Amino acid sequence: MNLTELGWDSAWDELLLADSDVEYGVGRVSAEHKHLYRVFTEQGETLAQVSGKYRHDARSRSDFPVVGDWVVITSGSDQDRAIIWGILPRRNKFSRQAAGENEEEQALVANIDAVFIVSSLNRDFNLRRMERYLVLTWESGVNPVIVLNKADLCEDVYSKITEISSIAPGVPVHAISCETGQGLDQLTPYLGTGKTVALLGSSGVGKSTLLNCLLGESIKRTGAVRSQDSRGRHTTTHRQMHLLPRGGLVIDTPGLRELRLWGSDEGISSTFEDIEEYSVRCRFNDCRHQGEPGCAVMEALESGVLDWARYQSYLKLQKEMAYISRKENLFEALEEKEKWKQIHKEIKRIKKR
Ligand code: GDP
Ligand code: ZN
Repeated sequence: MNLTELGWDSAWDELLLADSDVEYGVGRVSAEHKHLYRVFTEQGETLAQVSGKYRHDARSRSDFPVVGDWVVITSGSDQDRAIIWGILPRRNKFSRQAAGENEEEQALVANIDAVFIVSSLNRDFNLRRMERYLVLTWESGVNPVIVLNKADLCEDVYSKITEISSIAPGVPVHAISCETGQGLDQLTPYLGTGKTVALLGSSGVGKSTLLNCLLGESIKRTGAVRSQDSRGRHTTTHRQMHLLPRGGLVIDTPGLRELRLWGSDEGISSTFEDIEEYSVRCRFNDCRHQGEPGCAVMEALESGVLDWARYQSYLKLQKEMAYISRKENLFEALEEKEKWKQIHKEIKRIKKR
């Protein structure tokens, strides 16, 4: 494996704020377990754990590495276990609300180029659910691609594509069949060298089957990697990020499979662009479109140009959203620099011993 294949580019070099006095490597997290990570590196896949200082400094669950993260690592004293010193700033991330009373944000995967929202053309076909997935994807700052699988089981593929396109303006829609191989070549452009795609979609739509097709081998057999930990115990681990033989990386994690909504209003605006457009003509700027006088959304509903179920879905999603401020300000950048300085110091200190 080389780093470019894993998604490394020159912009990452700049973020690393490299210190030539310090020896370390970088790698990309391919699976996450309780206190252990699998990391793709130039030397292959390795097991890794976070440093004591990292664990001590972490303020929330989101500070810990997730699948797709770039991490700075050194080989540990423990032969087959590397040490993770820090994660590089995430370009984007998929999050969910962690269970518990304080509703903390929990990152699931990071640094994604596109999300395949997989649905099946037979029973799973559901416009409202698709809206939710779209909101979620826009929200995380990633481009959605709608993949309608099981085309072999559907007699009117064209009308389904039209239906989906009507609720997803500007989003590419591809009908495929993992069974017959139909349409699979349409996905190739998203999976160039170093490009990372995450799979999203309900259970049973064919995500594992799709991954199998792309890998050209049976993941059900090869996905479970038996490895020996340092004490000689056998642990069964499932890789969650896969390097495809023709280039490109695909992420299919249990976390994304059990997703709940989390995020700000931005995703809603992109998904419900039509409703946002009506709302510009509402009499009141802060109209909630729930019976206020002069509401253009209500008017659209009454005249029938806006679908009632779509309106309901809009209200529901709006209620579920919590606002997260974007992380990109100057203060954060300074903090980031300080963080790496400390990490470099710490690595030097440890290496001297
Ligand atoms: P996942 O839960 O999303 O990972 O779904 P799976 O990949 O496990 O697939 C669920 C079922 O759908 C399996 O029985 C697959 O064989 C079947 N399946 C997947 N893709 C296709 C397809 O294109 N056509 C048909 N007919 N069945 C498919
Ligand atoms: Zn209104």
